[in-house]
Amino acid sequence: PRKSIDELTWDNRFQALGTAYGRPQTPTELPDPFRIAVSDEAAALIDLDTADPAFVSTFAGNRLPADCQPFAHRYAGHQFGVWVPQLGDGRVVSLGQVRNRAGKCWDVQLKGAGKTPYSRHADGRAMLASTVREYLVSEAMAGLGIPTTRALCVIGSSLKVARDTWHPAAVLTRLAPTHVRFGSFEYLFYRSQFDHLAPLADHVIEVEYPDLAGQPPGQARYQAWVAGVIERTAELMAAWQSVGFVHGVMNTDNMSVAGLTLDYGPFGFMDDYRPDAVFNHTDETGRYAFNRQPDAALWNLGCFVQAILPLLSEDPDTAIGMGQDLLKAYRPAFDAAYNRRMAARLRLPDSPATVDLRDRLLTLMAADGADFTRSFRGLCSAAAGDEGAWLAEFSRPDDAAAWLRDWRAAWPVSAAAMAECLPAANPRYVLRTYLAEQAIRAAQGGDYSEIERLQRLLARPFDEQPDMAEYAKRPPAWAAEIALSCTA
Ligand code: AMP
Ligand code: MG
Ligand code: MG
Repeated sequence: PRKSIDELTWDNRFQALGTAYGRPQTPTELPDPFRIAVSDEAAALIDLDTADPAFVSTFAGNRLPADCQPFAHRYAGHQFGVWVPQLGDGRVVSLGQVRNRAGKCWDVQLKGAGKTPYSRHADGRAMLASTVREYLVSEAMAGLGIPTTRALCVIGSSLKVARDTWHPAAVLTRLAPTHVRFGSFEYLFYRSQFDHLAPLADHVIEVEYPDLAGQPPGQARYQAWVAGVIERTAELMAAWQSVGFVHGVMNTDNMSVAGLTLDYGPFGFMDDYRPDAVFNHTDETGRYAFNRQPDAALWNLGCFVQAILPLLSEDPDTAIGMGQDLLKAYRPAFDAAYNRRMAARLRLPDSPATVDLRDRLLTLMAADGADFTRSFRGLCSAAAGDEGAWLAEFSRPDDAAAWLRDWRAAWPVSAAAMAECLPAANPRYVLRTYLAEQAIRAAQGGDYSEIERLQRLLARPFDEQPDMAEYAKRPPAWAAEIALSCTA
């Protein structure tokens, strides 16, 4: 059975860490709130009944649930390689952590809930458009099995916000075991608040690293934790690279210490495969291009490790040596995870021969501008005997046909077995930029049905869903006009 809002159990262990990490902050009243989208799957994570009559007013930020303790978290970060000494939840308020029946805690955040001490000169609000995109992609990433913050709901309003012009505002509620970032630790380090590092690390370990939570606090536990953050980050990058996802703003304040995809802005799933695809038009140097993401993550981990050096050892030289050694695990962990995931997409053994075949395929796809998702999904029908449809993705089908022969020769099991198991490794549907845009345009006109349709589709991206075949096609020509930036 689901719980009403006031039956939720608020734990608020992050808030309990105190004002070294942020400030109490009540959400700002949202005018004329109404329900735009609700994820029942996300609600299930906190046992919440979405039919609660107080649902809209609560997640608009207009009514506080019993026992919650609204709070804005302070952090800093490196943005496009440049140190920014103070950022923080500029438009986010955490209501607190809900402990579900299984004993797991979820931080419940309202994004777009008004100004906080960390808003700098901005308005603390979020555009309906960016809120819908974050809502859809959070649930779509979960559907793909990729670690991510979750999205509970989008609440609309009569409020308009000023960006390039006036846009409708909305509030997104998101859930994660923790929203703590690399930049949360950097803030403390650069302010020489070394004593505040350990309680924050202990909190993260408690909520997200259960295997370490039993170990006595101390340097050995922190070393193992940092190794865990590095490992999870490597796994996350491998997951992104394997589905053609581009985050777009991999600043250290957007990097989760729990290895989750966090803070969706100008993200995208590639249509045509271009290794150097950039999805953020303000990223002029391509710092966060698709093929630079694994290295960007390593750079960010370097910032993170520097910030937690005081936890590794009292002796600075020892700590630095340890930090460097820990970082050496990143590249092999990424390579192993990426090789494993891509071998799974081809349903071949994880071997050097498979790496060669994979790289040959990616080279062909890049040369021909083949669609990333369709090129892999099409392997299912190719294995089932329909090679023509797959070859049609390529402008040079002869090269593709030669690759197909070599792939076939490497199959470890029968054609029937391949055809059966390939779909579960290759999504048919991803949140293409134009699909999100269609849902946003409809929502701006007051029609929220496309959001719901997309969410239902993307919750099961590996299923054929034959009546939804339109959503598996290449994007229409107008999709090329969509520009994404950090303006949100
Ligand atoms: P982002 O690039 O979205 O990760 O945001 C970087 C920083 O800007 C974070 O500290 C955000 O909280 C803050 N920020 C972004 N948009 C707004 C806004 N409309 N109002 C207040 N703060 C914002
Ligand atoms: Mg951010
Ligand atoms: Mg093309």
